Amino acid sequence: MQEKSKYERILDRVKEEKGVEYDKDLTADDLKEIVTLFKELYKKSQGEDFPQEPRVQLIEAVKAVFRSWDNDRANVYRRMHDIPYEWGTAVNVQSMVFGNMGETSGTGVAFSRNPATGENILYGEYLMNAQGEDVVAGIRTPLPISTLEKQNPKVYKEFADIAKKLEKHNKDMQDMEFTIENGKLYMLQTRNGKRTAKAALKIAVDLVNEGMITEKEALMMLDPKQLDALLHPQFNDTALKSATPIAEALPASPGAACGKIAFTAERAKEMAASDKVVLVRLETSPEDIEGMAVSQGVLTARGGMTSHAAVVARGMGTACVAGCSAIKFADDEKSFTLGGKVFKEGDELSFDGSTGKVYEGLITTEPAKISGEFATIMEWADKYRAMQVRTNADNPKDAKNAFNFGAQGVGLCRTEHMFFDADRIPAVREMIVSTTVEERKKALAKLLPMQRKDFIGIYKAMQGLPVTIRFLDPPLHEFLPHENSEIRDLAEEMGLTFDKLKQTVADLHEFNPMMGHRGLRLAVTYPEIAEMQTQAVIEAAIDVNKEMGFKIVPEIMIPLTCDSKEFKYVRDIVAAKADEVIAANGVELSYKIGTMIEIPRAAVTADQVAEYAEFFSFGTNDLTQMTYGFSRDDAGKFLDVYYAKKIFESDPFARLDQNGVGKLVKMACELGRKARPNIKLGICGEHGGDPSSVEFCHNAGLTYVSCSPFRVPIARLAAAQANIKNPRR
Ligand code: PEP
Ligand code: MG
Repeated sequence: MQEKSKYERILDRVKEEKGVEYDKDLTADDLKEIVTLFKELYKKSQGEDFPQEPRVQLIEAVKAVFRSWDNDRANVYRRMHDIPYEWGTAVNVQSMVFGNMGETSGTGVAFSRNPATGENILYGEYLMNAQGEDVVAGIRTPLPISTLEKQNPKVYKEFADIAKKLEKHNKDMQDMEFTIENGKLYMLQTRNGKRTAKAALKIAVDLVNEGMITEKEALMMLDPKQLDALLHPQFNDTALKSATPIAEALPASPGAACGKIAFTAERAKEMAASDKVVLVRLETSPEDIEGMAVSQGVLTARGGMTSHAAVVARGMGTACVAGCSAIKFADDEKSFTLGGKVFKEGDELSFDGSTGKVYEGLITTEPAKISGEFATIMEWADKYRAMQVRTNADNPKDAKNAFNFGAQGVGLCRTEHMFFDADRIPAVREMIVSTTVEERKKALAKLLPMQRKDFIGIYKAMQGLPVTIRFLDPPLHEFLPHENSEIRDLAEEMGLTFDKLKQTVADLHEFNPMMGHRGLRLAVTYPEIAEMQTQAVIEAAIDVNKEMGFKIVPEIMIPLTCDSKEFKYVRDIVAAKADEVIAANGVELSYKIGTMIEIPRAAVTADQVAEYAEFFSFGTNDLTQMTYGFSRDDAGKFLDVYYAKKIFESDPFARLDQNGVGKLVKMACELGRKARPNIKLGICGEHGGDPSSVEFCHNAGLTYVSCSPFRVPIARLAAAQANIKNPRR
């Protein structure tokens, strides 16, 4: 058991013995008894008496705060919010005022605007005859701050005036803690308040409209990552109409959540590996932070809007419904009753952090739309950014989604994802096991119409905006069956013997497929694959241009280049095929052929590659893998130890390593521009949607970043912030 919990146990035990529910109901003698027990426990665990010298106590308390910078949960929190370890923390020493001196004393937490909606009204909670801990711990249910107006109008007015003054001075919504000691108001602290994404947007837009800040300042005060919460799925309207809530509690952090119930952070982490999980707890504590992060949402039986669960979930953008007192937990906390039904681990539950409603079972969800203040902020972001934002999309649905989120084109369409479809895999496998060019071409002819249809769908979804199509990248054996039964079935289907097919599969085995026969190496050995893909890309563009009146200029992207001659070889094959198709159709069509820069050698020889490549797109997933020599699929297994030992502060696969990988990117940009001054430069690795990496890309002079559809608005805002900080000329 944690040291802290042992002290809390003593407190709970004495309260139970004395038959009181709240700390405030303990008498002075009860408190003396508790102090004696605390001292005994301290001596037992520390091997010495609790220091009696106030100065020593103070210094120990200060040291405890400094130590807290390095505890596990602080490290996890910092990584989540990109806060460098080196910053350290500060300690303020203040004289104490007491909110628990009787009914004319009290304490509370308040925000100058509503942190959930952004509405411009004083919002908060307080408790009379209580200490700060009582309000945030969610043990006693606090009163809304509006009640203070009736209970003590003078103190309320004084507080409301101070709140306005602090807000005006700091040009932002304030989160303030206060204590009333025998009727006198003391302000304990103020800081810019944490808020939901929805509130953040409303507050930023309102402050501009109130003349307090400029549009640029409004953009700078937003955390791009927070927008994620607004882009998360909401309940489908029709599904919601036929659902009846079984409970309603505090809408503590917005967003719809549905999943299987987990009762502990540990179980949530385990279950989240294979399922959507919702964490249901009596109340949460800082130890639950990782479990909360992997959950779709958090539901607590106790606690208010400023309880731990509510504050942390809002910060993370995770849905949270708090203080659901209708939930009755079993003694072992392994099940609960709600709406007359018993819920156990793994049972399905849905809830909405925007309405506070809880439902039995799974309610289908759908993506959000950009409107209202969100649309205003996006409009301002577009006005101030210099870099374009594209999306990574492999199908028309994702492309359409991204288009609605403001994507200015597709920066990466991974064509292999189209090969995995159940109805295509037989033709793909036939292509792979072919032993002659003729056989392979026959299989490719089956794939051609399917690929063409895919590209038509994406071009249409993007309404004539540029689309970059990346040719087949992964090692071929990924498409092959591995189980004997699957091999037997395929052999039968293809009229091959089991042994022959098994041998082909074995021949394709590679010890290190990530560095094996993949990317443009496939096009070097089997040019007919690249030819088929070229034909599909060009024919689809011709069809859509004709049908829709667009002027699509297809961008063909060759993956995994490591050498200029290697690139030229494939480029020539692609260009010849493209020209042949265009001529056969008797039309005019421009196209571009470029490459991904994802191997360090391509980056350092970028001037030579740029002689042939019309554009570069940095594949920073592979570039990070190959620069560090860390497998992108396995590094997660040991990186946690690197964070714990303070060797790394962040995951280089999520946040671009500017110090190493970034240097290669910058070098390749400079070399590329030297050889081809107008070269178009983009990024399509996962980093394209990470705000700090977007800032790096802006500073490196990239033309665009490309990221997953849901991160498009995040990248638009991050790009605006980067340009406000460091304007491009
Ligand atoms: C990359 O390597 O960064 C990239 C975008 O390609 P993929 O993730 O498909 O390897
Ligand atoms: Mg790659």
